[in-house]
Amino acid sequence: MSERDEWFDLARKLDWEFSYVDERAVFPEDISGTPWLSHAVWQDWDEPYKTTYTEYVTQQSAKDAAVHAVRDAVGQVEDFQKLDPAWLNALKLHAATLPLAEFAAVVGNLRAARFGRDSAWRTTANFGALDEFRHTQIPLLIMHELVRWDRQFDWTHKFFHTNNWIAIAGRHLADELLTTSNPIEFAVATNFVFETGFTNLQFVGLSAVAHAAGDRMFETMVKSIQTDEARHAQIGHPVLRTLMQHDPEYAQALVDKWFWRSWLFFAIVTGFAMDYLTPLQHRRQSFKEFMEEWVLDQFQRSLLDMGLERPWYWDQFIASLDWYHHMVYASAYTYRATTWFDFVLPGPEERAWLAQKYPQSWPSLEARWERIEQRWQQSGPGVEWHSHGATPVGFCNLCQIVLCGGTPSHNTAETLIHDGRKYIFCSEPCLRIFAQEPERYTSHQGVVMRILTGAAPANLLELLRYFGLEQDMWGKDVQGGNYPWLRAAEERSQ
Ligand code: MN
Ligand code: MN
Repeated sequence: MSERDEWFDLARKLDWEFSYVDERAVFPEDISGTPWLSHAVWQDWDEPYKTTYTEYVTQQSAKDAAVHAVRDAVGQVEDFQKLDPAWLNALKLHAATLPLAEFAAVVGNLRAARFGRDSAWRTTANFGALDEFRHTQIPLLIMHELVRWDRQFDWTHKFFHTNNWIAIAGRHLADELLTTSNPIEFAVATNFVFETGFTNLQFVGLSAVAHAAGDRMFETMVKSIQTDEARHAQIGHPVLRTLMQHDPEYAQALVDKWFWRSWLFFAIVTGFAMDYLTPLQHRRQSFKEFMEEWVLDQFQRSLLDMGLERPWYWDQFIASLDWYHHMVYASAYTYRATTWFDFVLPGPEERAWLAQKYPQSWPSLEARWERIEQRWQQSGPGVEWHSHGATPVGFCNLCQIVLCGGTPSHNTAETLIHDGRKYIFCSEPCLRIFAQEPERYTSHQGVVMRILTGAAPANLLELLRYFGLEQDMWGKDVQGGNYPWLRAAEERSQ
């Protein structure tokens, strides 16, 4: 076999001129993306980290072998049974939202592997598609073992196939971000914003927390996945650089849109895990501290390098770091039966930690938890419905998440009349994203619309079935309200 150096530069770029069709017909703007530029503009597209197929296969097979070795050692039901019950729910949340979204990313990468505008870009996207297929299979494989022990783990595969409200929100995001986006939007949204901007939070933050919680399987899985992300995420920079030269306004609009949408997603999956579902003794930093260290600094530097501005809503985003995931968690706790994982009622020690980490917001959030605590004291342990909501709530017409923007005293919901119909949004950024491209979003059927049109039942118990849930798998308080501190507080008050 010839040496890599002898052939690699020649093989990396395999573009040619078309003799009997127009370049625009080979790469139609509708599917290749906007702005449409001739190949001459894209021909210097360059990925900093270069690999050959042989190297790729060799490395990936070694990575898989390492994951399998850890799985053999600590990936059995008995190993997971040793973990803290609260932490297992961080795992259930991630296990469900991850694998089929990764599969959607296979589709996005394959579109770029055909319709990306330079051959090196297409090849890198092809490797990206193989990566994302691996990210689909690893969690499916690891969690499958656990289904016979706990049906909530069945949601690893089932989640995206259900009408659960979080799955409706998840598909709304994943379909636009991954399944349907053209290679230019995909490169900016997925590769630059989502993968370079946010997944450090998963790799560094969450794998450290998993390590502390003694969950070596999850830690290994996340780290192994992240080494792939770091390689294919580099597609984003060279695409964005060209976009900045030819349509900087569009580049900025894409970054603004996708940073907000990514933020809402990570605030829930990672915010819940770090500030509520990780046992207190294993926490090192708050979610906000992780965001500041691993997202804000680095993302702002990347924006600066690219000549981009911070998103226009930056102040609102910074303010939401203190509130948003706490607001969603409190709402979700009181509607926990609508989910497939269990929730922790933060006790006095957890609340003291949260008060110290979130001095601005926690005092008014604390009041909500005190009311929930009183409900549990009235009902006694095991009576889930006494501290549970009874009527369906409102959802944002863009992100499809419960209207939880702002603070308990100042909700940031906004409305918009479009074509005679009234829409409601959790926040100004969600409204502006919708208003910018209403044709993308107006036909979507959210939970409330489904209920109003009779497609989904209004009765909560029937709605749970519509959400794909049965009693033995729907979300509960992880201790059934049976916390030693809660009983002690009860005795004191008697
Ligand atoms: Mn991935
Ligand atoms: Mn990826």
